[in-house]
Amino acid sequence: MSQPIIVLREGTERTKGKDALNNNIQAAKVISEAVKTALGPKGMDKMLVDSFGDVVITNDGATILKEIDVQHPGAKFIIDLAKTQDQEVGDGTTTVVVLAGELLRRAQDLLEMDIHPSIIVEGYRLAMDKSLELLEDIKIDVEIEDRDSLLNIAKTSMSSKIISGEMEAISQVIVDAALAIEENGKVDIDDITIIKKQGESLSDTQLIRGLILDKEKVHGDMPSSVKDAKILLLNTALETNKTEFDSKLNIETADQVQQFLDREQSALKEMADKITATGANVVFCQKGIDDMVQHFLAKSGVLAVRRVKKSDMEKLSKSTGGPIISNLTDLSEADLGKAGKVAEQKIADDDVIFVTETPQSKSVTILIRGGTEFVLDEYERSIHDALCVVRNIIEDKQLVPGGGAPELYMANELRDFKLEQPSKIQLAIEAFATAIEVIPRALAENAGMDPIEIIGELNKMYKEGKHQYGVDPIAGKIDDMKKKGVMEPVRVKKQAISSAAEAATILLRIDDVVSAKNLDKGGAGGMPDDMDF
Ligand code: ADP
Ligand code: MG
Repeated sequence: MSQPIIVLREGTERTKGKDALNNNIQAAKVISEAVKTALGPKGMDKMLVDSFGDVVITNDGATILKEIDVQHPGAKFIIDLAKTQDQEVGDGTTTVVVLAGELLRRAQDLLEMDIHPSIIVEGYRLAMDKSLELLEDIKIDVEIEDRDSLLNIAKTSMSSKIISGEMEAISQVIVDAALAIEENGKVDIDDITIIKKQGESLSDTQLIRGLILDKEKVHGDMPSSVKDAKILLLNTALETNKTEFDSKLNIETADQVQQFLDREQSALKEMADKITATGANVVFCQKGIDDMVQHFLAKSGVLAVRRVKKSDMEKLSKSTGGPIISNLTDLSEADLGKAGKVAEQKIADDDVIFVTETPQSKSVTILIRGGTEFVLDEYERSIHDALCVVRNIIEDKQLVPGGGAPELYMANELRDFKLEQPSKIQLAIEAFATAIEVIPRALAENAGMDPIEIIGELNKMYKEGKHQYGVDPIAGKIDDMKKKGVMEPVRVKKQAISSAAEAATILLRIDDVVSAKNLDKGGAGGMPDDMDF
């Protein structure tokens, strides 16, 4: 008898063949069901409590999935879809997960009919390529000057969130912010700082042209406001070097003590002098500022702020035009940035620093107001999504109607397209078509409408060539989405469809799952980070 050879480490879990496939599909379905009820304007919010007892209330697919702790590798894979969608296009995170889950559910029906996974994969691939083409047919071109379209896009993105109550006002802030930082047709969302302050109400959310630092001036005697600011940006500490180890100093006379202190003081004074010699009247320092230096700077009328975040330093540099300096030697006026005004002002009960009227005014700040920390966090996520969709439109200038209209159009056209294909592939394309109809179906379902009836009515509209009709969950009927101003970026739709289809086909081709023992949790089932499908 031959000796069995042990290849895998003890505790490794392995599932093969149909079991592996079914497990993955099951897990993906569970995840997609979990977020499906959050889709659309009538979607429900989720309250999530982590192991530390911290509460998150959200409607954002990516956030819901980020907060839940999942073990199954198939489920983790689906959750990653939401993350990628969020990073790539900023919206459509629920959509992509719901789509992937539905594609796998429909694939499972075909598997039960003994259709081989590779046939399904082939059909899905064809259907995906065709869908992306079809989106091109119904896309609508817009110009940046078309402010209403930009506002509509922002509102559609927000309308499914808690923030929707104030979306008229907030969409103005968002569009202004995106346009303020637009440069050669590109919008870098990182140029927009978001600050959240408890108090007042959401409608008091405002756009500040310039930067706000959630910091105070370091010394009470410094000016609270500096006009025609000349700004030094420093990423080195204004302190004397502290040794890393204990050192002993033998001092024998009172004179020596004085001498020692004098020497330290003069080193610190020299730092302050070097700064004031350049004509700087504002200092933003990424590191600490010694009390003594603070005192000397205050005496010279300089406003200084310490421990400024690195990301804020970079934004300051970009908008004031001043480089970030790491060494005080050879400083000159040329090393200073400029701003019309730097001032400390109160927001709620906190002091913050406003840097406004900057020459390269490419930085803006959105100051979000709201009652509690939970809602502020959710407002920030929703505002981020809306900023992303507005960016997408400014950059691509292409949109499609929302409310499930494009999905319904694609489903119907795919049903024509499939007729050119061999019969088994036809089944897979039909499954794909039915799967993407999940979007209008879920929008209707979440609003308490009858999805079968709604899909029927929409199909009728499609036959009459009215491709812009979709579900209006708020009014509880179907309507012309373009007329209603419910619009989404083509980029978001394309990304959702292609990455959901890709994920489904990847999972369908797996017939062997080998999970290493999870050392942290002591159980099997974790997926190694570098697992390559
Ligand atoms: P996601 O995380 O995928 O963006 P959402 O909960 O934001 O999920 O829902 C997006 C879906 O809701 C899209 O299909 C969009 O067209 C639709 N939608 C958003 N607002 C409206 C509206 N006012 N009327 C109809 N459909 C809407
Ligand atoms: Mg959305």
